[in-house]
Amino acid sequence: MSDQHTIQPDDNSPEGRQRVVLLLHEMLQMHVDDVDCVTCGDKMDCLAELVAAGSNPKHALPAIYNHLKCCRSCTEEFEALVAVLLAEQAGKLDELK
Ligand SMILES: [Zn+2]
Repeated sequence: MSDQHTIQPDDNSPEGRQRVVLLLHEMLQMHVDDVDCVTCGDKMDCLAELVAAGSNPKHALPAIYNHLKCCRSCTEEFEALVAVLLAEQAGKLDELK
């Protein structure tokens, strides 16, 4: 009788622990907010231009996007930037007419 191949959630084998560590890594990568307001501000111009050009911020710069989701002051700044860029674009389009 052998149940060696069954991995229990509280498995203490090296394989089981490695699996837990990997899971924790994934969770940390999803939740750790290593983008602070300064970093966000640095990348914001770039992201605003991408968004103004029609890109999805979630795919373009996910780390910044995640910060924007949980930081109100950056979101307000970002939205203002996008609005300016869109207005500029509209102005350019008007000039082209
Ligand atoms: Zn912020």
